[in-house]
Amino acid sequence: VKHENRGDFRFYTSEMQAHTERALLLASALRHAVAGGQLHLHYQPQFDVSTRQVTGAEALVRWSHPSLGVLSPAEFIPVAESTGLINELGAWVLREAARELRRWQDEGVAPPMLAVNLSAVQFRRPDLPECIRRELDEAGIQPERLELELTEAVAMDDPEKALHMMRQLAASGVRIAIDDFGTGYSSLSYLKRFTAHRLKIDQSFVRDIGEDEDDRAIVRAIIRLAQSLGMHTVAEGVETEEQLAFLKAEGCDEAQGYLLARPMPADDMRAFLAANRAL
Ligand code: C2E
Ligand code: CA
Ligand code: CA
Ligand code: CA
Repeated sequence: VKHENRGDFRFYTSEMQAHTERALLLASALRHAVAGGQLHLHYQPQFDVSTRQVTGAEALVRWSHPSLGVLSPAEFIPVAESTGLINELGAWVLREAARELRRWQDEGVAPPMLAVNLSAVQFRRPDLPECIRRELDEAGIQPERLELELTEAVAMDDPEKALHMMRQLAASGVRIAIDDFGTGYSSLSYLKRFTAHRLKIDQSFVRDIGEDEDDRAIVRAIIRLAQSLGMHTVAEGVETEEQLAFLKAEGCDEAQGYLLARPMPADDMRAFLAANRAL
């Protein structure tokens, strides 16, 4: 038994070491990614649950590494955060998203709004509102067309500070969505004071709507809560008609997920928007 335990321990540490080595490799490679043009954005449309019209889109960053291939943000965003590279990366995402939105506008295919994810590190920077204003100005975008997605966990980590930042952002006209809602620990009194426009119901609850009565109850409760606070709800990760039907019956406003459209490169998104333009 002792031997087996030692073996497990060794296996565990070598796995940890491999993990750390990959993180170090990614950290140094990521330095070149932004300047080297290895980052690009994919866009995933969001839809009105009742009419299925496109109501907006979310920008999702991708990294095409020359030898490692396409890397997931779930892997490299944490690396970017721990190395401070997230500031540069986040600024690039904002600029690229604003420019793309501008192109869509010029071509007459723009959806009502485009959402961008903010990391915890970006959200804590006092110069964030100024940074965003500058990017919007340079691209010639009205602030109402941009939505910033902030996770519930980040918002509730220091809610007093988050409230202050959200007020500044809202005052400049941009919209705010609370992302991954239901996975953090929201203080309802803060939620009420946050100037958020939308709550995004985390995909972990949407996934099992069909089988799990608890998840159905949670989704229902989030929708009611948002309604009573005057916020819209967006369900993430909608993959089946059954899930969509439940969300519609419960009064969820918008949906995003593989059932309706997958995240896609800018060119495909432009074609998608042109084909789905409200006439
Ligand atoms: P998120 O903000 O919760 O984004 C939703 C994730 O769910 C995306 O993964 C999206 O591709 C995926 N998804 C969409 N529809 C479905 C579906 O029907 N089923 C399933 N199973 N998944 C679906 P992605 O693009 O890999 O991004 C992962 C996370 O990385 C994001 O989660 C977000 O937290 C982060 N991220 C992505 N782009 C950025 C960025 O530009 N900045 C920052 N700070 N974080 C980003
Ligand atoms: Ca998001
Ligand atoms: Ca999310
Ligand atoms: Ca998530």
